[in-house]
Amino acid sequence: MAEPSPASRAGLLPGDEIRSMNGQVPRDVIEYQLIADESVVDFEVSRGGLDLALSVEKAAGDPLGMEISSAVFDQVRTCDNHCEFCFIYQLPKGMRKSLYLKDDDYRLSFLYGNFTTLTRFTEADLERVIDQHLSPLYVSIHATDPDVRARMLRNRRGATSLRWLRLLLDNGIEVHGQVVVCPGVNDGAVLHDTLAGVLDRFPELATAALVPLGVSRYTTEASMRSHSPEEASAVVSAVAEWQPIFERAVGRRLLYAADEYYLLARCPFPPAEDYDGFEQHENGIGMARAFEADLLGARSGALAGGAGHTTGFFKWVEGAPAEGYRAPRAPAQPVHITFGGHRDPLPPVVLTGEYGARVLAPLLAQVGREDVEVVAVRNTFFGGNIAVTGLMTGSDVASVLSNMSEHRRYLLPDVCLSNGLFLDGVKVSELPRRVEIVATDGRSLLSALGSR
Ligand code: SF4
Repeated sequence: MAEPSPASRAGLLPGDEIRSMNGQVPRDVIEYQLIADESVVDFEVSRGGLDLALSVEKAAGDPLGMEISSAVFDQVRTCDNHCEFCFIYQLPKGMRKSLYLKDDDYRLSFLYGNFTTLTRFTEADLERVIDQHLSPLYVSIHATDPDVRARMLRNRRGATSLRWLRLLLDNGIEVHGQVVVCPGVNDGAVLHDTLAGVLDRFPELATAALVPLGVSRYTTEASMRSHSPEEASAVVSAVAEWQPIFERAVGRRLLYAADEYYLLARCPFPPAEDYDGFEQHENGIGMARAFEADLLGARSGALAGGAGHTTGFFKWVEGAPAEGYRAPRAPAQPVHITFGGHRDPLPPVVLTGEYGARVLAPLLAQVGREDVEVVAVRNTFFGGNIAVTGLMTGSDVASVLSNMSEHRRYLLPDVCLSNGLFLDGVKVSELPRRVEIVATDGRSLLSALGSR
């Protein structure tokens, strides 16, 4: 609760449980915000077992000055699929409960950019999306062949739920799609068939991203495996082949491959302009080029796509309390945890995932920062092919740090944290060395590094 604010002046207190606003029970932050924007908001709240009525008066559109504790007030709609590539099934036992939530909720798609398969989407949901213009949304396509899609989702509704995608597009909703490519399942000829299906049935899609499945050492699915470099190369080639086809047919490239594919295939990344505004940056598309553009000063301001979303695995497992419709959890500017009230003039070390290190080390050399050591933190917690920075865990970072000097500055990207916690529940304060948390973008890193 902000002090002073219209809400505090009206007598609302932290911890009040909202029963209704203007006679309605908002189901989520989207409905909450619509009511909160009105000039008079009548609250029924419960406080310590007492029911109270309070009224807030303010200018229409002015904020109430309240923070709410979750984005969805009824239940998050969970997914009824059982995808063999699902990363949640590949988490070890005993992690915190929120990490095991399989959501398939169009509201979280709108609020946080989570991908939905639409298998639980309904006519009423469609009406609401259109009425409130909840756009853009993010849809998992995986395959346009109904049988392949149903098999991949292990849900017969997977065969038909893309009909909702058609209706969303028909009603002017912007939709970004993704295909999680699983080698031997929906790559090769199936992938080409899917891309033809996208062109044929969903040409209005804003973008479509090809992303590799993540395979942890906890997978129980024998058929799920990482891409070989040749398979990664085939995905990169498919994008190179289909982008001009989409460009000719719909006037834009539409299709992009995740950075991981270029790293795996040992191909150069496409130039930054080929990412057309980095619309699926949060999904690992063009992150390296965006970072490079930041570092080299070629890009200023927020990303065109996904601005306001938090990044990494946490964005969909632990929804930040949304302020308004879209809530950034990661601050735009670096947050430094400093010790002793000053920034140590010690040789800097950047801790990052194995993929991040491959991108970052040459970039820092390019901007003349050879003084910065980039340390790749191997992901032994998850194992498998997990090498992205967003899935770095505290235990792995701790084991690297415990072998490193106390007399260095350690910088850690915020993408691997949620409220100061790593995925494995380790707190930043439990690390064996002091670290500074830096927002995961090139400008923030440069600013945190300061001058040599
Ligand atoms: S739809 Fe997503 S959450 Fe649900 S099983 Fe598939 S991968 Fe997991």
